[in-house]
Amino acid sequence: MSDEDDQWFNIVPKLNCPHVHDAVFLRDSVSIALDVPCSVCTDTSENWICLSCYDVFCSRYVNSHMLSHFESSKLCGSSLSAASTSGSSGSATTATASTATADQTGHPHCVAASFTDLSFWCFECGEYIESDVLRPFHTALHVAKFDVLPGSDISTGGGPSLGANTGTDVPRDKVDGKRKARDT
Ligand SMILES: [Zn+2]
Ligand SMILES: [Zn+2]
Ligand SMILES: [Zn+2]
Repeated sequence: MSDEDDQWFNIVPKLNCPHVHDAVFLRDSVSIALDVPCSVCTDTSENWICLSCYDVFCSRYVNSHMLSHFESSKLCGSSLSAASTSGSSGSATTATASTATADQTGHPHCVAASFTDLSFWCFECGEYIESDVLRPFHTALHVAKFDVLPGSDISTGGGPSLGANTGTDVPRDKVDGKRKARDT
């Protein structure tokens, strides 16, 4: 009787991450392009998107820029992308740094979504997470990757999606018949 042994191997996402509501900045419409390179090193092999600022960074198996993004957001607080203090260039206009971008949440950018396996990771928890807040992102990622909405039963094996237009069930018989006719 070892139920725990069964779960040993499975990655069970944490369902009650306390950071996700603060860290994730939800926009009106979420669209994600999976071919966006890491914004630091421009690697494209294995990237994550920060769900606070929507910047794209590479994984810890590449150059760990997602991790360093999280850590610098922790350290710098709000002044994350406001590092453009460009010397003393004359015009004494009001130097109030328009903190429009960085202060969306004011929280560390700890939640990221993987382009590779469409999972979500919280750096604060150090675990995979799952939450209703993340659902629009999962949908957007799924559409970007498979060209279908999640839940469509085409998404089984990762094969090429047949009826990308309709999304409805493609009659198997028809496809099979075509193949047979070609064979003979
Ligand atoms: Zn968390
Ligand atoms: Zn990188
Ligand atoms: Zn971020």
